[in-house]
Amino acid sequence: MSVWDDLQGQAPVVEQLRRAAAQERPNHAWLFTGPPGSGRSNAARAFAAALLCEQQDPAARGCGSCRACRTALAGSHADVTSVTTEKVTISIDEARDLVRRAQDRPSTGRWRVIIVEDADRMQERSTNVLLKAIEEPPPRTVWLLCAPSPGDVLVTIRSRCRAVGLRLPPADDVADLLVRRDGIDPELARQAARAAQSHIGIAKRLATDSGARERRDRIVRLPLSLRSVPGAMKAAADLVALAEAEAQASFEERDAAERDALLSSLGVEPGGTVPAALRSQVKRLEEDQARRAKRSKNDYFDRALTDLLSFYRDVLLLQLDAGGTDLVNAGLRAELEEFAGKGSPEQTLARMEEINAVRRRLVTTNVQPLLAIEAMALSLL
Ligand SMILES: [Zn+2]
Repeated sequence: MSVWDDLQGQAPVVEQLRRAAAQERPNHAWLFTGPPGSGRSNAARAFAAALLCEQQDPAARGCGSCRACRTALAGSHADVTSVTTEKVTISIDEARDLVRRAQDRPSTGRWRVIIVEDADRMQERSTNVLLKAIEEPPPRTVWLLCAPSPGDVLVTIRSRCRAVGLRLPPADDVADLLVRRDGIDPELARQAARAAQSHIGIAKRLATDSGARERRDRIVRLPLSLRSVPGAMKAAADLVALAEAEAQASFEERDAAERDALLSSLGVEPGGTVPAALRSQVKRLEEDQARRAKRSKNDYFDRALTDLLSFYRDVLLLQLDAGGTDLVNAGLRAELEEFAGKGSPEQTLARMEEINAVRRRLVTTNVQPLLAIEAMALSLL
């Protein structure tokens, strides 16, 4: 095995990173880009492990079995600092702290590696602090930034970074990964990878949580009930409720895991009472979690709309090509075929554009999700 094993379907990137890790002086700043779910942070972590790998032969770095590789992948290597805006908000003070930490010499490894996931979501002031550190790098520090596309980070940062471009892997590769890494049943993995349209994280969630599967299934069936104005209003309300239920379920799961991790790092037994002196730390985590929940709710509306879109995408494929097409929602083939027979590709394209328009509106304006989605549902009739 090696640290590259989980980078399914990313052969050119693996080759690029493997070569860089074997060099004596790799570039000191890297920008990992790729669509959500393509595995940007997995790639950054694998590269961090390879940079720190203890193998004597440079070409063998990233062995996956030495202590450095294992701890770097698990997120517990002393010389790897990972920041995710999903976990905490990166304040300017935290960015400064990060820059200070970047000045430290590595404690055990050859490099100090700093991974910034969602570099695109940092506030501009924090980014400016970071820029300074990237412009004048300490000699043993390597920065690994992750963002959806190069255009999402300041050009001044981008120009200092070596680019690593990931693609969305084919669904079969995502399914293989779920089988091998997470021990998921092959047929279930295949369905989940396809339904998630190759988004690795969502595919895993669909494969491991029957509630998430059921909610997605209900969203994808909504167009079948769009026949009247009251039906459209109900479908819109259902879509909003399903997206909110999915957000709630995944927050609860992650929040509880983070709380457990914090308590165990503070030495509190699972289920034990939190000593008064530590309560403020727990409270701070809960506040961060509440802020995050508020901020990332839109992601779940977008996901629900992407699932809805996949229905019309399948319809369009059937309308354009009667043969054995690769459907995202293969389980609904009969319903999709019937639906496709009743309309034209032009109609389907117009509906897809309505859904994409509301996705953009939700991101760029403060419109109430229910109102925007009701308007969309009416336009889908
Ligand atoms: Zn190793």
